[in-house]
Amino acid sequence: MERAITGFRKDGEGHWVAILACGHGQHVRHDPPFQERAWVLTPAGRAEALGRPLSCTRCDRRELPEGHQASRRTPSFTESTIPKGLLADHATRPGVWGLIHVESGELEYRIDAPPGDVQILRAGQVGVVVPEVRHHVAPRGAVRFHVEFWHPAPPAEEDGPIR
Ligand SMILES: [Zn+2]
Repeated sequence: MERAITGFRKDGEGHWVAILACGHGQHVRHDPPFQERAWVLTPAGRAEALGRPLSCTRCDRRELPEGHQASRRTPSFTESTIPKGLLADHATRPGVWGLIHVESGELEYRIDAPPGDVQILRAGQVGVVVPEVRHHVAPRGAVRFHVEFWHPAPPAEEDGPIR
């Protein structure tokens, strides 16, 4: 899916990596004649690229970005205490990932945004909620689960995003 560029950093070998709104990084190498991206070498070129969308296959695969950490979790819900908001189509904010942890029973996890998907999560299984992707859940009989939210870790001094 398409994700906006929110910043840049360099990898250990000095190659530029675009930081996307989802939290994933993606190499944007200037490697002529194979890849022509002279713009990435200048601060002005990088500034102009902010907000530009890149296709993120790691979001398509629902891979939690490295560098994210669990920030908070909901209480445990049962089939009778699930907040109405979770039963209806909703999405997390940009960059915020969710992990649905099923403690007991079965929970249907339905991704509404195209191409869509349905997973039946059982005790011990985890459903990955991708930022900004619309979804909802539905109990299948008795169930107990909670949701954990993952945010980007605060950048370390020497390894912060370069804009
Ligand atoms: Zn992504």
